[in-house]
Amino acid sequence: MSLIHDTSTAIQALRQLDSVGLAAMICDATGIVQLVNSAADALFDEEPSQLEGQNIFEVDGLAPLRKMLVAEQPQINPEMALLYNRLHCLIRMQRIGRVGYIFTFEDVSELKLSADRLATALNTVAHDLKAPISAVKGFADLVRNTGELNDKQEMFLGRIFTAANNMEGLLRDLVDITWLDTDKPLTLEPVRLASVLQSALDILANHRTKRQTDIATTIANDLPEIQGDGRRLERVFVNLIGNAIKYTPVGGSVTITLSANDSWQIIEVADNGIGISAEYLPHIFKRFYRVPRDNDGDDKIDGTGLGLSIVKTIVDRHQGDVTAISEPEKGSVFVVRLPTSTAETPDD
Ligand code: ADP
Repeated sequence: MSLIHDTSTAIQALRQLDSVGLAAMICDATGIVQLVNSAADALFDEEPSQLEGQNIFEVDGLAPLRKMLVAEQPQINPEMALLYNRLHCLIRMQRIGRVGYIFTFEDVSELKLSADRLATALNTVAHDLKAPISAVKGFADLVRNTGELNDKQEMFLGRIFTAANNMEGLLRDLVDITWLDTDKPLTLEPVRLASVLQSALDILANHRTKRQTDIATTIANDLPEIQGDGRRLERVFVNLIGNAIKYTPVGGSVTITLSANDSWQIIEVADNGIGISAEYLPHIFKRFYRVPRDNDGDDKIDGTGLGLSIVKTIVDRHQGDVTAISEPEKGSVFVVRLPTSTAETPDD
């Protein structure tokens, strides 16, 4: 394909995008802006042709494009980025022959603003609901202390506790999800995974006692501190170990191992529980995904389908990874790797 042919195709493509109001720009492989359509000029509030001839590596407002250009990966899935400090855009990048790259920009600032407002409102509601739910649990506990209860009363109280605990779990997941969706930065500090594990085990102590789960921990000697967000990493442990307890029949075993190699600290949470079939395994980290189970009656296992997606997002934000191996009726192993030195990816 000749360069001229490529260029004329590119100009044509830009015109077509202009006719449907989609902002687009073409850069060569070195980042020099070749063409900008009028929808993009209007979006960026630039004079016509002002950007042409400039290198995007030197235009402050377009910093996120550099990262995409350097990675040279076509962005079939759009990337969300803040341009010119005010425009939240969904950006796609495609290679076009030898001309370079075409970027398209979809302004979703209004949507982002509404989503942020909704997240803030949800967060406030979740926080406000915590107190009444604690009150329900507190008064239910007091009923137990007022005298002997018959079996039926005991059963009803048990149901009140289960419902209140489920509501607390749902609220906790909602608060986590809204935090993740509003792109709040991690609070990085030196963290010892062994201490984070201990506080997660404290949080889960009742759950573990109720399910009579045997938990064994193996912690390698002298694990160095990592840079991490302790509160969020505690959530990773709580969700993984909580699941291991929940999806393992009463009296089951959970084994937690902390180890390290040159680059990673490795958390392994293994159980001998109900496991997950191969067909469902690829989906478990998706938001709201729950493995379909036969038992939807009284003994169904409660959950929101958010726990593992929260784990994955927190681990991703630490530049780590999480994987699962599982076999139905045998058990599951979740492995999290966190880099020994962690920093959130800078914007450019
Ligand atoms: P949930 O609130 O449903 O537990 P998660 O996102 O934590 O949501 O998990 C998603 C699904 O993955 C669960 O519904 C469950 O079917 C499966 N799962 C997670 N952990 C385990 C485990 N340790 N053993 C078996 N299944 C698991």
